[in-house]
Amino acid sequence: MKVVVVGCTHAGTAAVSQMLASHPNIDVDVYERHDNISFLSCGISLFLDGRVQRLEDMFYSSPEALTKLGAHVHVKHDVLKIDAQTQTIVVEDLVTKKVTTVAYDRLVMNTGSLVTVPPLKGIDSSRVLMCKDYDQAQQIYKTAAENKHITIVGAGYVGVELTESYASTEHVVSLFQNHQQILVHSVDQMLSENIAQRLVDHDVDMHLNERVTGFSDDPDGDGILVETATGKYPTDLAIVATGFMPNTDLLAGQVDMLPNGAILTNDYMQSSNPNIFAAGDACAVHFNPTNENLYAPLATNAVRQGTLIGLNLLEPTQKYMGTQSTSAMEIFGSTLATTGSTLAHAQSLGINAATATYEGNYRPDYMPSTAKLTIALVYDRDSRRILGAQLLCEHEIAQSANALSICIQNKNTIDDLAFVDMLFQPNYDEPFNYLNQVAQVAVAQECQRGRSQTHYSQQAASEL
Ligand SMILES: Cc1cc2nc3c(=O)[nH]c(=O)nc-3n(C[C@H](O)[C@H](O)[C@H](O)COP(=O)(O)OP(=O)(O)OC[C@H]3O[C@@H](n4cnc5c(N)ncnc54)[C@H](O)[C@@H]3O)c2cc1C
Repeated sequence: MKVVVVGCTHAGTAAVSQMLASHPNIDVDVYERHDNISFLSCGISLFLDGRVQRLEDMFYSSPEALTKLGAHVHVKHDVLKIDAQTQTIVVEDLVTKKVTTVAYDRLVMNTGSLVTVPPLKGIDSSRVLMCKDYDQAQQIYKTAAENKHITIVGAGYVGVELTESYASTEHVVSLFQNHQQILVHSVDQMLSENIAQRLVDHDVDMHLNERVTGFSDDPDGDGILVETATGKYPTDLAIVATGFMPNTDLLAGQVDMLPNGAILTNDYMQSSNPNIFAAGDACAVHFNPTNENLYAPLATNAVRQGTLIGLNLLEPTQKYMGTQSTSAMEIFGSTLATTGSTLAHAQSLGINAATATYEGNYRPDYMPSTAKLTIALVYDRDSRRILGAQLLCEHEIAQSANALSICIQNKNTIDDLAFVDMLFQPNYDEPFNYLNQVAQVAVAQECQRGRSQTHYSQQAASEL
């Protein structure tokens, strides 16, 4: 059995490790255009603001490690063409320039994503950079070290993470977002405004609802001008963080895809061609909260899907569970953790969704310290199922998003969460944990709207 793996960051590394553990006798060739594998983009902002000293620490595997497992690893090799009919690929050795054709029995497509580059005037300036891979991270680091004013274009989670990182340094930071709120895909308006205010409080020059239309040379200095419909703003470096798109042109027209090019797979990570598997940013996910296939490029999805390819390569063995796209980020010492659907996304699909909000301290006031915790719980008013949640606290509450992810995965209702067993100890929480309490708010909210009989006496519920 000859297996060809195209692309080797998270999905590729996970797939190769698992397929060789599960099927030690297969013949695996890995083609990766970079000279490295397994780079954690997730650590870039930590390196840029100095919390992590060495960018090289962001690799957790290497070509040598995969070779030791039995793979033939070809770095600096670019796959130019895939022909699903003849089951061959055309690959170029980027050092020798030699081009060869290689046959496969199974192809594993782990080509990931590209930064969505808007067709902006001046985007090819050396002062306009993208942020995804190791080389780009190094380029940003070098350019930023020599310059003062950094402008981030796009306020999704990558843009906000970069803004937060640079706002914690000596740099002057501007943020442009073409929407009235930041973190549109992660949080609803209340928490979006909260995070935006924190950025402003840390001197970020915030431009909401202002679309960048291009970049031009600054006649008054060495830098560039960021152009919008309402002005021209000088800066030294612009980082474009306007989202990601699947990098799947090699299979265009050969397997089923979402309109944006994300490869659709079955429960065993097979594309519509059973000999072609796909994982990670190259493919779609099944989003459990709203039961739809969509594009959610995250390392968490990539490693799980890659591992499933390894398990299912020869026969269907373990099913994909779908995802809640659970994520977290640190914002000036606070944790923002999210899981599942936002209210806006659920409502855009016609779901009769509502939000219950909990605002209180995560543990009792009589403790030496405590911190304010905000939870927005999104649920379906008809089925009472939990659809999503957003949590913000100075205390580390990221694992609570994981707990809520399990609730969504298991189709739990607000009634389940209101009463499910959770620990109490004053070091950690109140007698009813805050996750119980936010669900009790939801139940009381529905009770008030005449949709259920249950009424809780809890303070959280009575705060309605
Ligand atoms: C700044 C930043 C922060 C992030 N933070 C988080 C986070 O905190 N948590 C989280 O879960 N996710 C995070 N992500 C997202 C995460 O990095 C991606 O989801 C993840 O990298 C996807 O892995 P992948 O293996 O599917 O694809 P990619 O990382 O895109 O890798 C694809 C690989 O394929 C190779 N390749 C492509 N085409 C070819 C070809 N034709 N021939 C040979 N090789 C090819 C590429 O060189 C690349 O190495 C972050 C991303 C960024 C940019």
